[in-house]
Amino acid sequence: MKCRVCGQDAHISLRSYNTALCSQDFISFLEKRVFDTIQKYNLIGNNDTPIVAVSGGKDSLSVWHILNKLGYKADGVYVDLGIGEYSQESLAKIKKTAEGLQRKFFVFPIRKIFEKGIDEIAKVMRRVPCSACGMIKRYAINKVCMDNGYNVLITGHNLDDEAAALLGNLLYWKEEYLWKKSPFLDGHEGHLSRKVKPLFLCSEREMAAYALISGIDYIHDECPFSINAKSLTYKNILNNLEETSPGTKLQFIKGYLKTIKGIEEKKRDISYCTTCGYPCYGGTCSMCRLLHRFHIKDRIGFEEWGSNLDITQKMMT
Ligand code: SF4
Ligand code: ZN
Repeated sequence: MKCRVCGQDAHISLRSYNTALCSQDFISFLEKRVFDTIQKYNLIGNNDTPIVAVSGGKDSLSVWHILNKLGYKADGVYVDLGIGEYSQESLAKIKKTAEGLQRKFFVFPIRKIFEKGIDEIAKVMRRVPCSACGMIKRYAINKVCMDNGYNVLITGHNLDDEAAALLGNLLYWKEEYLWKKSPFLDGHEGHLSRKVKPLFLCSEREMAAYALISGIDYIHDECPFSINAKSLTYKNILNNLEETSPGTKLQFIKGYLKTIKGIEEKKRDISYCTTCGYPCYGGTCSMCRLLHRFHIKDRIGFEEWGSNLDITQKMMT
C-alpha cells in the first residue's frame, strides 16, 4: 500500500477515510484534523487561556502535545487519585511531558488532602469509585481553572469515547445527557470554565498511532476501576460494527452533531453553592458536603509544578 500524499510506503491504513498514509503524512493529517475541529467549532479563541486535563494516558498527553505544537500555549492539570503505582506512574509521565513542552501543570493530590485514596473516599460516600472520582475531578479541575484564570478546559475525549457515551445515553434514553456530547460545553462566567474536546473526531486507533509515532511516553495501563465500565462494552460493540462497516463511528457522531444543531438544550435551573460558588442544583455542592464530612475544609488545595519541575504547594480555603 502506498501513501496517498507522497507515494512512499504507507504505514497506517485509515479505512474510514478509504486511504493510507506514511508516518509523516499521518502526523500532519491528524494535527490538521485537530486544528480544523478547533476552528470549525470555535473551541479555542485568540484571547482564551486554555488548560488540558491530563491523566497520563495517550489521548490527554497527545492533545497537550498537539495544542502546543499548533501554537496554543496550554498548561496542564492532573487529579492524583492516590491509586498506588498507577497514579505514581501517571504523574511521572505527565512530568516528563510537561518538561518536554516547557509548560507548568497543577496537581490535585487526593490522598494528601483526604488522607485516603479514591476507593476509600467512595466507600465513605457510599458511591462506586467512578462516581466519586467524577464528582471530585470535575470540582478540582474547575477550581484550578477558576483560581488561575483558565477559561477553557480541554479534555482528551476521542471519537470512540464520545460514540460509546452517546450509544449508552441513547440505549437508556438519558435525554438530560444527550446534549452534552457536543464538542463544547458552555461555562458560567466566574463559576465554571468552558469545556472543549478537540479530539472529538479522532479515533482511539488514530490517537494510539499518533502517540506511538510521535514518541509520546504515556501510561499504557488503564485505571484499575475501569474494568467493569459499561463504556468498554459499548466500545466493543462499536468496534465490531466498524470492522464490517468502516466509518460507522464517524457517521454516528457526525449525524448526531447535525441532528442536535437546532434542538434546544433542556436546561435545569442552576444555582451556585452557597459556600464556594460552584454551580449546583441547590444549597451546598457535593464537594463542600464531602469536605465537611471529612472535616477538612481548610486543606483543599493543589500543587503547582513549574516547567523546571520545582514544586511549590498552594493550599487554599
Ligand atoms: Fe476515575 Fe473510574 Fe475513570 Fe478510574 S475508571 S479514572 S476511578 S472515572
Ligand atoms: Zn461548594
